[in-house]
Amino acid sequence: MIDTHAHLDKILCDTRGEVDKIILASSDFESSKYNLKLAQKHDFLLPAIGIHPQSPVGGIDELENLMDKNIVAIGECGLDYSDENYDKETQLVIFKKQIELAQKYKLPLIIHARKAVDETIEVLKEYKNITGVFHCYAGGVKRIKKVIDLNFNFGIDGNLTYEDGLVSVVKNIPKDRLVLETDCPYLTPLPFRGQENKPAYIKYIYQKVSEIWETSFSDTEKIVDGNAKRLFWNKP
Ligand SMILES: [Zn+2]
Repeated sequence: MIDTHAHLDKILCDTRGEVDKIILASSDFESSKYNLKLAQKHDFLLPAIGIHPQSPVGGIDELENLMDKNIVAIGECGLDYSDENYDKETQLVIFKKQIELAQKYKLPLIIHARKAVDETIEVLKEYKNITGVFHCYAGGVKRIKKVIDLNFNFGIDGNLTYEDGLVSVVKNIPKDRLVLETDCPYLTPLPFRGQENKPAYIKYIYQKVSEIWETSFSDTEKIVDGNAKRLFWNKP
């Protein structure tokens, strides 16, 4: 199992042996530096660097200085219009700088798009030769084709275990476009909803996808992990 989106800078837990790989999503410059260091100590941790649209923007121009060969993605970055007081113009500037970084270093983007999926799609359309994942995809069935046309993938989280609307979303996502993520410490799946999330709980999301696809757990794992590997690193 691969957890393609975890915030290990925000929780204290021993994840060794629980999953095969974990991609460390970053939220700001400090967490990017922290995650890089953490990943240096453990082979199964793969770092992404980036600045979340709700985070302080400090370090955006220094982000490139952190670039090294172990980095598997840029993010999480994107647009978040969930609060009307957010500075949309600044968000856009910070997001575009990170898209350009991803383009330059040929890295996938981990996209955070909250109450701004259409706007995010419009921005991404302006760029060529980019790919990535809509982390915690919230665009519904009707935007699936648009995301595919952008050459992007879908990240699905623990809320799949309790939000019925997401079941039809997963049914409509082509099997080769789906990756799974905990977003821990947030979005804890059933049966642990309400407690702090951790990478080990990713198995409940795999289980739910198996049910929806009507495939065995190991076949589901083969497909989903193959997608993650193709997207984030090109090793068999
Ligand atoms: Zn996240």
